[in-house]
Amino acid sequence: MQSNYQLTYDMLFNHYGPQNWWPADTHFEMLIGSILVQNTNWRNANKALQKLKPYMDPELIDQLSAEELAQLIRSSGFFNIKAKRIKAFIGWFKNYHYDIDKIKKIDRWELRNELLNINGIGRETADVMLLYGFDKPIFVADAYARRIFYRMGYDMQTSYDGFRQQIEKDFPDDLQLYNEFHALLVEHAKQFCRVKPICETCPLANNCDQRLD
Ligand code: SF4
Repeated sequence: MQSNYQLTYDMLFNHYGPQNWWPADTHFEMLIGSILVQNTNWRNANKALQKLKPYMDPELIDQLSAEELAQLIRSSGFFNIKAKRIKAFIGWFKNYHYDIDKIKKIDRWELRNELLNINGIGRETADVMLLYGFDKPIFVADAYARRIFYRMGYDMQTSYDGFRQQIEKDFPDDLQLYNEFHALLVEHAKQFCRVKPICETCPLANNCDQRLD
């Protein structure tokens, strides 16, 4: 029997179609993008990514000083902090000789712990990296997902990992489905389930409690 989360997935997929995330040319670019998009929108993160394009190689970024890197990624905001975070990530990545395929072979939860030990990589960034950079099926329990499910009438666990596990318990362990699910929820939060929602024409309206308090 399908879970409510699967039904939500199906309704979103039927409405929006495949999202084919993450928008990046390479897995490495995706990983850097996931740090740049912290605490900002994709437009600002993408501007920084475009500036960084000529250096989109771990060895080249490693050669930049934190100050040089910060100047290149200015448009993403919090650029000094993010430069240090990217440097910390590159330091970890270097331990694996910048070999993404090698990292993909690490157990999902072991890898998650390693990522969480890198300075500036929190749960949401780690899960986005796991899902789109390292091909590990995992639910990204971000604020958009929380907003949508709460409004639909689900009682969500308050902690990030509690919420994540709540979804994963009832959702197939399938990389492609998780890949699409996060992208679809982000799209839905942008198009309909905004801070001020557009419920009248929302594709989930018939299955939603519209709990807006
Ligand atoms: S009906 Fe309204 S509250 Fe429910 S998912 Fe759609 S936009 Fe969000």
